[in-house]
Amino acid sequence: MNLLRRHPIALALVALVLLSAFAPLPALVDAVSGTPPPDADLVRPAAYTLFAPLSDVLDALTFLSLERARAFLIAWMGILAVWGFARPGGGSPLLRRLAGAALGALIVPLGGVAAVLLPRPVPRLVTADSTVTVIDYHAHTAVSHDGRRGWSADDLAAWHAAQGFEASYVTDHNVVFTHPIDEPIRLLPGVEWSVYQQHVVALGAVSPIDRAPYTGDTRGMLALFGELHRQGAIGLASLPEYWRNHWGDLAAFVEAGVDGFEIVNCAPKALGFPAPARGRVLQLATEHDLLVVGASDNHGWGEVTCVCAAHRPRAGGLGVVDGGVHPAVAHAPEPVVERALELDHVDRRDPDLPVGPPARG
Ligand SMILES: [Zn+2]
Ligand SMILES: [Zn+2]
Repeated sequence: MNLLRRHPIALALVALVLLSAFAPLPALVDAVSGTPPPDADLVRPAAYTLFAPLSDVLDALTFLSLERARAFLIAWMGILAVWGFARPGGGSPLLRRLAGAALGALIVPLGGVAAVLLPRPVPRLVTADSTVTVIDYHAHTAVSHDGRRGWSADDLAAWHAAQGFEASYVTDHNVVFTHPIDEPIRLLPGVEWSVYQQHVVALGAVSPIDRAPYTGDTRGMLALFGELHRQGAIGLASLPEYWRNHWGDLAAFVEAGVDGFEIVNCAPKALGFPAPARGRVLQLATEHDLLVVGASDNHGWGEVTCVCAAHRPRAGGLGVVDGGVHPAVAHAPEPVVERALELDHVDRRDPDLPVGPPARG
């Protein structure tokens, strides 16, 4: 009883850890099947475990969707402020209690800043199957208007390498990536075109375009896919735009030649993409032999991503990431089996995710 009174927080944490062992969440989820992938695993470096629970709490903060981040901020700032105020301090005067409340509330935003900026050990994805390439389809450098200042292609490659990626397309906003590198991972050419209420991730032999014809309306925007094919590139519809702005147009996307859809994107605005909507896109992709991908959409912030796409080349000796476009992607006569793996802490069963897209045409 004395122990309980002396160490309430430590004992509460121990109880929570024991309790959570009864309903463990898988560290990795195959975004297509929703089940843990049999041949992929997360390896946590010793330093990561040493710094737990700080490491995984900071990871979890990085993976909050915009809606969840808001709810988390309000709830926990309130709770910690009350705790800071009420903490026994030997008949402390009001001023000290108020300072305690302010300090308590500050823990939450400070945690957020630490999650984004603090260099720390990160888990790394490993696959048992050597024919699988862990690849990111969508990532940014400082060349993007909203990229982290000074975030170079080398920084991006190092960030990917630390998490087990072997290749990544670099898709800056409206600027074609022209400096591919091979070390520490392969960076491949791409671009993210901002067109009418949609971002289109173009991969492969992309060249600069005049965006004007594609920015007026949905019809004009959809013509971009044809232009990309003429260039020898492929075009993927990015999240959250097709969900937010074009949910009723997906059949027209297919008609216009979209090569695939992102079904997981780790940007805060896209993390709220709900499971039922994902299911619908998966069905559409299966019906039309389209690609589904996961993307970090990293802009230089945060040490970890909740997404890796583990790409398996199909039989027939298809090169994995040679040239610009993955050949299995460019000429897929049958559905490409693609995996988007969600790392820790993203639980698709969570009830606070919106169940449908907002009503917008
Ligand atoms: Zn951006
Ligand atoms: Zn992006």
